[in-house]
Amino acid sequence: MVHRMVEAMSQLQEEKARLQEELAALQERLALRDSDQQATSTQLQNQVENLKEKLISQAQEVSRLRSELGGTDLEKHRDLLMVENERLRQEMRRFEAELQELRAKPVAPCAGCEHSQESAQLRDKLSQLQLEVVENKGMLSELNLEVQQKTDRLAEVELRLKDCLAEKAQEEERLSRRLRDSHETIASLRAQSPPIKYVIKTVEVESSKTKQALSESQARNQHLQEQVAMQRQVLKEMEQQLQSSHQLTAQLRAQIAMYESELERAHGQMLEEMQSLEEDKNRAIEEAFARAQVEMKAVHENLAGVRTNLLTLQPALRTLTNDYNGLKRQVRGFPLLLQEALKSVKAEIGQAIEEVNSNNQELLRKYRRELQLRKKCHNELVRLKGNIRVIARVRPVTKEDGEGPEATNAVTFDADDDSIIHLLHKGKPVSFELDKVFSPRASQQDVFQEVQALITSCIDGFNVCIFAYGQTGAGKTYTMEGTPENPGINQRALQLLFSEVQEKASDWDYTITVSAAEIYNEVLRDLLGQEPQEKLEIRLCPDGSGQLYVPGLTEFRVQSVEDINKVFEFGHTNRTTEFTNLNEHSSRSHALLIVTVRGVDCSTGLRTTGKLNLVDLAGSERVGKSGAEGSRLREAQHINKSLSALGDVIAALRSRQGHVPFRNSKLTYLLQDSLSGDSKTLMVVQVSPVEKNTSETLYSLKFAERVRSVELGPGSRRAELGSWSSQEHLEWEPACQTPQPSARAHSAPSSGTTSRPGSIRRKLQPLGKSRPVPV
Ligand code: ADP
Ligand code: MG
Repeated sequence: MVHRMVEAMSQLQEEKARLQEELAALQERLALRDSDQQATSTQLQNQVENLKEKLISQAQEVSRLRSELGGTDLEKHRDLLMVENERLRQEMRRFEAELQELRAKPVAPCAGCEHSQESAQLRDKLSQLQLEVVENKGMLSELNLEVQQKTDRLAEVELRLKDCLAEKAQEEERLSRRLRDSHETIASLRAQSPPIKYVIKTVEVESSKTKQALSESQARNQHLQEQVAMQRQVLKEMEQQLQSSHQLTAQLRAQIAMYESELERAHGQMLEEMQSLEEDKNRAIEEAFARAQVEMKAVHENLAGVRTNLLTLQPALRTLTNDYNGLKRQVRGFPLLLQEALKSVKAEIGQAIEEVNSNNQELLRKYRRELQLRKKCHNELVRLKGNIRVIARVRPVTKEDGEGPEATNAVTFDADDDSIIHLLHKGKPVSFELDKVFSPRASQQDVFQEVQALITSCIDGFNVCIFAYGQTGAGKTYTMEGTPENPGINQRALQLLFSEVQEKASDWDYTITVSAAEIYNEVLRDLLGQEPQEKLEIRLCPDGSGQLYVPGLTEFRVQSVEDINKVFEFGHTNRTTEFTNLNEHSSRSHALLIVTVRGVDCSTGLRTTGKLNLVDLAGSERVGKSGAEGSRLREAQHINKSLSALGDVIAALRSRQGHVPFRNSKLTYLLQDSLSGDSKTLMVVQVSPVEKNTSETLYSLKFAERVRSVELGPGSRRAELGSWSSQEHLEWEPACQTPQPSARAHSAPSSGTTSRPGSIRRKLQPLGKSRPVPV
C-alpha cells in the first residue's frame, strides 16, 4: 500500500513537476503572446498613425487638386478659345493677304478706311489672345502633369491602404485563433483537476506519512491552485487586454471607414466641382462662340466692304496695270533708244566738232590771210597816202601873242577842203596842200582821231614815228603832251593801245613798255633813269640782227593808265629839276617817248614787235640867221643839224637813194628802224596863226609840203633806195651842209651836257634797265 502510495506520490510529484513545467511553458507562452500582442498593438497603432498621416496628406492633395482643377478647366476653355481664335486668325490672315495685294497694286489704298482700322484692332486682339493662349497652354500642360502624378499617387495610397486592411484582418483572425486555442488549453487543464483530487484522497487514507505528504501535497496543491488561480487571473487580464485590443481594432476600423467616407465625400465634391467647372467652361465656350460669331459677322461685313472696294478698284488696277505694262515695255526699250540716241548724238557732236574744227582751221587760215591782207591794205593805203603823212595844226591866238598888227591872224582855211591852208605872207597869199589841216578850233580828240590808225598799226607790228614839228610856241608840246585836263597824243595813244590790247587779250598776249629820252646838243639822255645826266650810246645789237639798241635806257612796263601817268610825271619831274628853265630847254631839245608793243599770238605763237616813237622836236625857228652867239648858237646849230638830218633822211628815203644818212644825227640814227622800210611816219606841223610868225610859218609849211611828197614803202628798204635829188633839200642852213654817208652820229660832240647839275631824282624804280632796247 505504502509502496503504492509512494508510487502514487512519486507519480503525483512527477505529475506536479510536469504540471509545473506545463505552467512554466504556459507562462512563457503567455508572456510571449503578451509581448506579441504588445508588438502587434504598437504595429497596428503605427499603421493607424501612418494611415492618418496619409489621409491628411491625401485630403490636402485633394483640396489642392480641387483648387488646381479650376485653373485647368479655365485653361481648357482658353485652349478652345485659342483654337477658335486661331481659326479667326487664319481668316484674318487671308483678308490681310488680300488687303496687302490690294495695297501692293498701284492704286492708292482707301486710306483711313474703317475696315483696315477694324482689321488692325482685330489683329491686335488676335495677337493678344494668341499670346494668352500660348501662356495658358504652358500652364495647362504643367497642371495636367501634376494631376496625373497626384492621381497615380492616390491610387498607390489606396492600394497600400487596402493591403494594410487585409493584413490587419489576417492579424485579427490569427489573434482570435490563438485566443481560441488558449481557451481550449485552459479548459483541458481544468478538466484534468478531479483525478488529481482523487489520487490525493487515496494517498491520505493510505498513510500518515502519506497524509503528511498528502498535506504537503495538498499544500502544494493549494499552492498550485493558487498559482492556477493566478494564472487564471493573468489569463483573464490577457482576455481583457485582448478585448481592449479588439475594441481598438474596431475603433481603428471605424476611423478607417470614416476616413474612407470622408475620402468618398471629397471625391464626390471634387466630381461636383468638376461638373460645375465643366458647365462653366461650356458656358464660356458658348459665350466665346457667340462673341466670335459676332466678330466674324463684323469681319465678314468688312470683307464684303473690302470686296466692293476691290471690285471698284479692279478696273482702275487693270488700267494701271496696262499703263504699267506699257511703261515697262517703254522703259525696257528706253536704254536701247537712249543708246541709239546717244550714239547718233555722239556722232553728230563728233561731226559738229569736226566741222567746227575744220571751220576753226578755216577761220584761222582766213584770219591769218585777213591779217596779212589787212597789213597789205594798210601798207597800200599808207603807200597811197604816202608813208609819210603830214598834217598841220594851227594853234589859236593866245595872250602871249600880244596885240596890234603883229598879232593879227594871217592863216585862213578852205571851207570845202580840209587839206588846204592859206597864209598871208608879206601881203601875198600862199597856199599849201597837206594831208590834213586842223584849224584852231580842232580839239585834242580831233587830232588824235586822225593819228589813231597809225597807233593801232603799231599793235600789228609796224614801227611808227609821230613828230611834232614847228617853231617854239606853235603848240608842239600841247599837241603831244597836252594838259592834265586835256591830254595830247602821248597819253591818248597809250590809252588806245591798252584798250586795243585788252580787246585782243583772248587771242594775243601783249606787253607794253615805255622809255623816255631826250636829245639835247646831240647827246641822248634817259629821262626815266636814275642818272639822267648820263650820256647814252646807240649800239648795234650783239645778236647780229642789225638792230640798234641803247644800253642803259630805262624801260618801264606799263599795264594801266595810272602807270603811264606815273611814268610821265616822273619824266616831267626829272626834266623840271634837271633844268632851271625847262621851257627854254625843252624848246631846244628833242623829247622822245618810245612805246614798244610786243605781242604773241596765243593760237599760232606768232610774235610781233611794234614801236611807236612820239617825238616833240626842238623849235624849228632859224636861229642861225638871227645872229645868236655862244651856247645859244651851238644849240641852234645842233637843232639845225638834227632837223636837217631828219630832212636829209626823209629826202634820201623819198628819192630811194642807195644810202640814207641815218647816222647824221642822234635823232635819225635812233629812229632808223622806225623811219625805214614799211614804217609809217606822221609829221604834225604846228603853226602859229599870227602875223609876226608868218615867216616861220611859211618855212614850216614848206618843210611839211616837201616831206609829204617823200614815200616810204616795201621797196624802199635800205638796200633798194633810189637816188635823191638835191633840189629837194630843205631851205635852211644845216649845221652839216652835206649829208655824211657814214657819219657816226653818236660820236658828235655835245658840249653843253656836262655842265648840268647832277640828278637828285629817285622817285620811281624802273621795271628794268639792263635789258637792251632795240631802237
Ligand atoms: P611849243 O611846244 O611848240 O613851244 P607850246 O605847246 O608850249 O608850244 O604852246 C605854246 C602855248 O600855246 C601854250 O601856252 C599852249 O597852251 C598854247 N597852245 C598851243 N596850242 C594850243 C591849242 N591848240 N589850243 C589852245 N592853246 C594852245
Ligand atoms: Mg614845247
